[in-house]
Amino acid sequence: MSRERSKQPTESLDVTVSGGSMGGLFTGLALRSAGHDVTVHEQSTGRLRSRGAGIVAQRNVRRFLGRHAAAAPEEITTASSERRYLTRDGDVERSAAESMAFTSWDAVYRRLRAAFPDDRYRTGEEVVAADSETATARLADGTELSADLVVVAEGGQSSTRRDLFSDVDPEFAEYVAWRGVVSESDLSAAVVDAFDDRFVFYQGSNHLILAYFIPGDDGGTAPGTRRLNWVWYDSLERRDRTAVFTDAGGTERTVTVPPGRLRESVLDRQLDRAESELPPVFTTLVTETTDPFVQAIYDLTVPRMTVGRVCLLGDAAFVARPHTAAGTAKAAGDAVELRRELDRRETLGSALSAWDDARTEYGNRLVERGRRMGRERLGLGE
Ligand SMILES: Cc1cc2nc3c(=O)[nH]c(=O)nc-3n(C[C@H](O)[C@H](O)[C@H](O)COP(=O)(O)OP(=O)(O)OC[C@H]3O[C@@H](n4cnc5c(N)ncnc54)[C@H](O)[C@@H]3O)c2cc1C
Repeated sequence: MSRERSKQPTESLDVTVSGGSMGGLFTGLALRSAGHDVTVHEQSTGRLRSRGAGIVAQRNVRRFLGRHAAAAPEEITTASSERRYLTRDGDVERSAAESMAFTSWDAVYRRLRAAFPDDRYRTGEEVVAADSETATARLADGTELSADLVVVAEGGQSSTRRDLFSDVDPEFAEYVAWRGVVSESDLSAAVVDAFDDRFVFYQGSNHLILAYFIPGDDGGTAPGTRRLNWVWYDSLERRDRTAVFTDAGGTERTVTVPPGRLRESVLDRQLDRAESELPPVFTTLVTETTDPFVQAIYDLTVPRMTVGRVCLLGDAAFVARPHTAAGTAKAAGDAVELRRELDRRETLGSALSAWDDARTEYGNRLVERGRRMGRERLGLGE
């Protein structure tokens, strides 16, 4: 836009959002509710599909869903009231009272997407460039979109971030997360009982597995319809990262090998390890999972979250390790705080500066916390 950022009032802004997953939808809903005109552009065609895993439903995410997506927390979350650690033999090593709420990526995405107007959510539209001075975004087909502000919610592999900060790269840790979900109807009553109402862990040497219930495929949260979600952090030891991340079709991936794409030899080796290293209930979970997948653990930080009229948000800016259970909550927090600063300040320039300072500091703290948790609590190398 022609006006200087420092002089532009913060009312009724035209906002282009690149990326229509959690960060994009949180932003779209939060800013629309404050009277801004927001259009989301998502490169994928059709509905986004879950990578098939659960997420901890942090309080701010539940609050956001209640306020902006008419979702009562109990409709989309499962709960536990105890944290329990098992021994290698499967006995209870220790436990403590702890209330947690869990959900699935799918359940949250469905609610957010349903609350956002279809005519403002454009699929199959990849943003290939964003001009930070003019807030003009260019799509792959050459269309130029002019706005007051461009919000980049493109996730950890964001190409716009790479254009803005060419020296920022993910820093890979020397361990990965193997993940999967199993329908509780496919498990014996004894296994379901072992996890019911609990957040269950087993800490081995250089590895840690945890599991919790999440809603079923159809979003059901009633006992009998849920799924058990497990995450197994395991060091790569002498395993070759390239070998693990080369998928069944021979493509080398950087961040995740999605469900159904792991090579048989890679999967077999991990299943053997499950048999020899895990307590029996966890071995059952892992071996009963139809399509486990693997995700690289990495840290990502940016020096700042705004450049002119472009801001980076969610995983496009900071990625903290999953131990922090904060990826979705951070995306929601970034969006809500952006709206708050726009409400509170008179000019776009002052709102973006205040938002950038606060959220960059928060992102750095979160990434540091994730590193510490990996190093100290889990006994896993960096
Ligand atoms: C399909 C999908 C499934 C997921 N499933 C899980 C899960 O099961 N469990 C879990 O913990 N986390 C999952 N995540 C990750 C989780 O959403 C994020 O870690 C976190 O919520 C932050 O969200 P984000 O919107 O910042 O980034 P992401 O969720 O990574 O979303 C980025 C979005 O931007 C789009 N995009 C990227 N570049 C462009 C571009 N140039 N132009 C237009 N669009 C672009 C991508 O297609 C994607 O939809 C999933 C992400 C996706 C995209």
